[in-house]
Amino acid sequence: MRLAKPTSNLFRARAKATAKGLDTSGLTGVIAVDPDARTADVAGMCTYEDLVAATLPYGLAPLVVPQLKTITLGGAVTGLGIESTSFRNGLPHESVLEMDVLTGTGEVLTASPNQHADLFRAFPNSYGTLGYSVRLRIELETVRPFVALKHVRFHSLGELVAAMDRIIETGGYDGTPVDYLDGVVFSADESYLCVGFQTSTPGPVSDYTGQQIYYRSIQHADGVKDDRLTIHDYLWRWDTDWFWCSRAFGAQDPRIRRVWPRRYRRSSVYWKLIAYDRRFNIADRIEKRNGRPPRERVVQDIEVPIERTAEFLEWFLDNVPIEPMWLCPLRLRGDDTWPLYPLRPHHTYVNVGFWSSVPVGPEEGYTNRLIERKVSELDGHKSLYSDSYYSLDEFDELYGGEAYKTVKKTYDPDSRLLDLYAKAVQRQ
Ligand SMILES: Cc1cc2nc3c(=O)[nH]c(=O)nc-3n(C[C@H](O)[C@H](O)[C@H](O)COP(=O)(O)OP(=O)(O)OC[C@H]3O[C@@H](n4cnc5c(N)ncnc54)[C@H](O)[C@@H]3O)c2cc1C
Repeated sequence: MRLAKPTSNLFRARAKATAKGLDTSGLTGVIAVDPDARTADVAGMCTYEDLVAATLPYGLAPLVVPQLKTITLGGAVTGLGIESTSFRNGLPHESVLEMDVLTGTGEVLTASPNQHADLFRAFPNSYGTLGYSVRLRIELETVRPFVALKHVRFHSLGELVAAMDRIIETGGYDGTPVDYLDGVVFSADESYLCVGFQTSTPGPVSDYTGQQIYYRSIQHADGVKDDRLTIHDYLWRWDTDWFWCSRAFGAQDPRIRRVWPRRYRRSSVYWKLIAYDRRFNIADRIEKRNGRPPRERVVQDIEVPIERTAEFLEWFLDNVPIEPMWLCPLRLRGDDTWPLYPLRPHHTYVNVGFWSSVPVGPEEGYTNRLIERKVSELDGHKSLYSDSYYSLDEFDELYGGEAYKTVKKTYDPDSRLLDLYAKAVQRQ
């Protein structure tokens, strides 16, 4: 039984659903915000856009707000989300206090560190194959009205990674505590750390929802560039242009941008355009008409330990013709590891995101497979929202196969929900 949701941020193709999906229309709201306890009770399919709109008036925000507005809380907890607070707040599931899960047996069970703890711990990275979270209680943190930004330029990837590591180890930049940290690599010679500080000091702010484009605003010749955004615009800074992916639709060409309605400058619109393209093979047909081979989609987020990050980036720049790349450091918040996405506690990893296409290679998924091998060689992982090519043995090794089987038997004994390997790799 699949979810019948109006939005999605999955990127792998799915087999056409034969049965009617689960109606989620009653599960999209914020149930309550408790400003004293700094918690929110939220329905499983509530988008972060709606969730943030409910918490910001209290000066509060979720500990991690994934950048795309239509990502839902349930989707980010089961499919793993990440953002520029992840170096200090970990991943979205680490701020879940408890959740109600509709399991494969048809029961609604409350899972928490103390109740059905096996389900609670195996839920992150299970992609709806153990059950659907219908309500989650999450922690919130206080935020100030503005974010002051410093975009720090590097001419060497090794130096960028070393500076990132220093900020995480000390918690500060030039002696000031850092609240937000991510980065962008344009080339080996041009990369940036984007360091953010919460502030209440009033003053002018930039707006990247109009003609200016956020990722372009980061670029400069040398040194440090300062900027300021409202907290709302900071949280959604990447959504307007889907990072930089809107350029594929011409939305960054000033002539087109001027007439592209503001309300359609958002990731969910571009996602629908891509889904339409995929359905009708539009891009491949254009390539064919121009005498060029079809392209392989390479839309991935991977994580490698920080000490292997420069090596991965250099390898990537030499082997995969895609730029820019997004960098986002993360460290598990707690002492525990999560069986289906085993990261080492107290160790910094760097998420690298790249979302584009390359000319097809000698076998299906050639470049994606190269990347999978390199990431495994560097002791990393990749997210499962997009295409994967692992063998079953490799997959079980990387994504907690044994733990998954045990929990699956308990909460979905009749396999009414799909199996994780079937869903993530075999695209069922
Ligand atoms: C181009 C691109 C860039 C991305 N970049 C980022 C990023 O920078 N940061 C980030 O955090 N994430 C990113 N993501 C990944 C995204 O967070 C995950 O794909 C997430 O799972 C999407 O959540 P959704 O709510 O849109 O769920 P959907 O896309 O609708 O579903 C994803 C999966 O989760 C399951 N699911 C959905 N809701 C629930 C629920 N309530 N309970 C149980 N299972 C459920 C579905 O069955 C499905 O298998 C990116 C994705 C794309 C395509």
